[in-house]
Amino acid sequence: MSQNADQTLEDFDAVIIGAGIAGLYLLHRLRNLGCSVCILEAGSDVGGTWYWNRYPGARFDSESYSYGYAFSQELLDEWNWSEHFSGQPETLRYLQHVAEKFDLRRDIAFNTRVSSAHYDDLRRDWVVKDEHGGARRARFMITAIGGLSDPYIPDITGYASFSGMSWHTARWPHEPVDLSEKRVAVIGAGATAVQLITEISKNIGHLTVFQRTANYCKPLRNGPIDAETQARIHAAYPDIFKKCRESFGAFMHEFDPRSAFDVDDEERQAIYEKLWSEPGFAFWFSNFNDIMRDRAANETVAEFVRAKIRERVNDPKVAALLTPTDHAFGTKRVPLESGYFEAYNRENVVLVDLRATPIKEITATGITTSDASYAFDVIILATGFDAATGAHNRIDIRGENGFSLKDKWSSAPQTLLGMQSVGFPNMFIVGGGPQNAASFCNVPRCLEQNVEWVSDTIRYMREHNLTRIAATPEAEAAWAEHVDETVSETLIPETDSWFMGANIPGKKRGFLLYAGGLPTFRQKCDEVAAQGYVGFNLD
Ligand code: NAP
Repeated sequence: MSQNADQTLEDFDAVIIGAGIAGLYLLHRLRNLGCSVCILEAGSDVGGTWYWNRYPGARFDSESYSYGYAFSQELLDEWNWSEHFSGQPETLRYLQHVAEKFDLRRDIAFNTRVSSAHYDDLRRDWVVKDEHGGARRARFMITAIGGLSDPYIPDITGYASFSGMSWHTARWPHEPVDLSEKRVAVIGAGATAVQLITEISKNIGHLTVFQRTANYCKPLRNGPIDAETQARIHAAYPDIFKKCRESFGAFMHEFDPRSAFDVDDEERQAIYEKLWSEPGFAFWFSNFNDIMRDRAANETVAEFVRAKIRERVNDPKVAALLTPTDHAFGTKRVPLESGYFEAYNRENVVLVDLRATPIKEITATGITTSDASYAFDVIILATGFDAATGAHNRIDIRGENGFSLKDKWSSAPQTLLGMQSVGFPNMFIVGGGPQNAASFCNVPRCLEQNVEWVSDTIRYMREHNLTRIAATPEAEAAWAEHVDETVSETLIPETDSWFMGANIPGKKRGFLLYAGGLPTFRQKCDEVAAQGYVGFNLD
């Protein structure tokens, strides 16, 4: 690093915001290019998602060995995952190990939440400020802040008056929490709540779950990895990563090329049973290729899952409430579970249907719905995130001529390749923004692609003495068209979810992800680079 012309700010080639999976790898790559880099991180340690989401039950939904970094053979060789789907403490330890191994911590400022990032038109660089008044300059400003990192706290009347303990799942306390004699409320029934409820219901005073929408949950089928399997996994790494590279969602699963109606009812049922018995997302991503596009095909899967739920819940009324009927399978993220439905067979676990009896207010002692009042010691909000745009909007990001990213994205979150946005030169977004394959993906595999593309772009610019890269409006509009095309073929837009920005009141409804799959996304990015960064102005 060096001092800049006005001798006041530290000057870097790149400032990265966020020390999660993407930020750590990017720091490593940019350092190897000879860049001066620093990461600004709001948390007190590395880990990103796995630092913040430390609620009981938090764990991978991806096979552990498909989730770790692929860039270092030494790292692959020395790290043994203990379970097929690793829990949060192990994943956090893994990322801490990566930070030590590659000596990353010396370039990370922890407890440093970024408040603003402004582009300086004259100098062609960014001034990035944090909440403590610190400021840095950098040629490139790169957000690696995660697509699901801005917790959504619903505006429920009286929440501030609650006298017990309350927190969002993504702000779970770092010290142990004993719920064994507590009356606990969980609001929400998404992927987070499903993991949390399963775990805390095992040792709790009393649990009341406030559910608005039931979900199609699929058994995770986790287990420890024995020594023999461990050896097989290590030998198979090249195949595992090849499979992930070539599959739609970068998982070790590939869609069945057949339609659900290419087979008769009996064979279809047998296929569903087989997929159901497999671990992870096989039931979703190895299913018939038309289940995400054809309502009738989707309904065959949906009905299969509904029957499974009914089999597992003792009380038929509770089973009916836990059975989704209002949206198509896979149009919301499918939660993976390990005993979720059985939790509702416990005497001390109660389900409240918020569609029938909405919450009216939170009081000092608990929650009042339209037909009852419940007393609680603890209220847990498993209410999700302001996805893709939320975490960016919390930072005052201003590009050319003081143009605000928040203002731009309030009408439509437009980007080029999900990695740049017109009006914001020399700013890159890795993974966490809209229209990027990384949010609908086995995340690290897509982040890896993003990080490599961005660092290769910076290398290209350095090699060609270029100081400014800016997406063109034409290319951005064409990308929006392509993103829309990929999703309009699916059933996803029919359902309200965070995929559509529909979980946040007042947020403009629109698809926030990329539904073309990683191989197509990678191909598009590579074509842009191979053609001298067509769609970008470089000078
Ligand atoms: P989510 O899927 O958005 O679920 C939020 C839940 O809160 C929903 O049940 C929602 O109900 C409910 N809710 C929101 N506002 C409410 C209100 N005002 N009153 C009552 N209920 C309300 O969020 P999430 O469960 O945190 O999951 C978010 C994403 O994180 C997942 O889709 C997944 O991508 C990721 N995740 C990954 C893993 C993993 O990989 N292992 C684990 C957990 C989460 P409605 O459905 O009716 O809106």
